[in-house]
Amino acid sequence: MPLNPDFNGAVQEGIGLTQTTTSKGWRNSTAQAYLKPARSRPNLRVETNARGKRVLFEGKRAVGYEYIQNGQAKQARAAREVIISGGAYGSPQLLELSGVGDAEHIKSLGIEPVHHLPGVGNGLQDHQVFRMKWRLKGKPGTYNERIRGLTALGEGLKYIIARKGVLSSPTNPINAFFRTRPELETPDVQIQFFPGTYDNMRDRKLHHHPGVTLGPTLLRLESRGSVHARSSDPFADPAIHTNVLGTENDLKTAVDAMRYCRKVMEMPAMQGFYDHEMAPGKNVQSQSEWEAYAREVGSSNWHPASSCRMGPDGDAKAVLDTSLRVRGLQGLRVVDASAMPMVVCGNTNAPTIMIAEKAADLMLADARA
Ligand SMILES: Cc1cc2nc3c(=O)[nH]c(=O)nc-3n(C[C@H](O)[C@H](O)[C@H](O)COP(=O)(O)OP(=O)(O)OC[C@H]3O[C@@H](n4cnc5c(N)ncnc54)[C@H](O)[C@@H]3O)c2cc1C
Repeated sequence: MPLNPDFNGAVQEGIGLTQTTTSKGWRNSTAQAYLKPARSRPNLRVETNARGKRVLFEGKRAVGYEYIQNGQAKQARAAREVIISGGAYGSPQLLELSGVGDAEHIKSLGIEPVHHLPGVGNGLQDHQVFRMKWRLKGKPGTYNERIRGLTALGEGLKYIIARKGVLSSPTNPINAFFRTRPELETPDVQIQFFPGTYDNMRDRKLHHHPGVTLGPTLLRLESRGSVHARSSDPFADPAIHTNVLGTENDLKTAVDAMRYCRKVMEMPAMQGFYDHEMAPGKNVQSQSEWEAYAREVGSSNWHPASSCRMGPDGDAKAVLDTSLRVRGLQGLRVVDASAMPMVVCGNTNAPTIMIAEKAADLMLADARA
């Protein structure tokens, strides 16, 4: 596996340090980087604690937005167009609550359909990660030891004084991208290296002994799931079906990726560093044992996408055209990770920001035309 100092550059394959959207030791959110500098603009108004209820239409044109704030229904009118940015779970739900989606499903919610668009909510993808853990020898300084006792105090001080140390580091400071099959043109698996271990995702309580977690993650998924509104209540969560490992190939790739991680850790250069493989453990050997482990531990890498996916003319399941406009309607765009035709082969935050940057250019170009 080659060393790669920039896997967001021309070549993705290889191993290198994680690139982050961090400024002075802080994760830099879009609110911080984009909204804050624009807050004093006279043409910007931000409403908080506001739950979107539906887009308002006149015929097939979006003309505004209804939202609930402090229990009160309020409306905002659009001078030019309405943009939905509710994310891969929120945007399809909001479209369906607005009457846009599969007409039968919308009627079953007690909502009058505005536009039959059967792709809404279908096509959901999310990277799946299959964590494997090793107990390390000696005192290598993994997060397990550094976020504990007096060392944790030192880390706290280091962060306060210099914005350095564990508290300024990404969860996974090293990443690798590789191909499970040589005939593939580009990597289909990412391995996240977390210098720590815990038993379960729910409480993420770090172990007392040193450890390392390798998280092989599927990038090129065949499986697609769905997200749909379950009721007309905008506060009710939608039904999410990820359909994880829904195809033979996805399952095979997951197993190949985990076998590869074990192979890497069993290389002579690595063996001196660890005591034993904690998970899945050496009792997992056969294909069916690996598959069972994949099904047991596979979990979201928090990259949901593609539930209002963009597609070319003639693609009956595409929700958006190539300018992010909702097909068959006027004055309505969706701008977020749900627009991705398929989930990108890497983390989704920066690509979502790129979609938003592109949307801004498209809207400005339309306004100037
Ligand atoms: C725990 C976690 C860790 C992550 N770590 C990374 C990482 O390290 N690197 C990386 O690249 N990506 C990471 N991601 C993914 C990244 O955050 C997302 O890809 C990105 O935020 C997607 O942007 P979005 O605009 O599509 O959706 P979101 O950021 O989810 O924004 C959608 C917003 O719309 C709001 N909303 C939805 N419906 C309504 C409604 N009806 N009314 C009002 N508001 C509504 C939601 O509350 C939300 O605030 C992580 C995600 C999570 C959850």
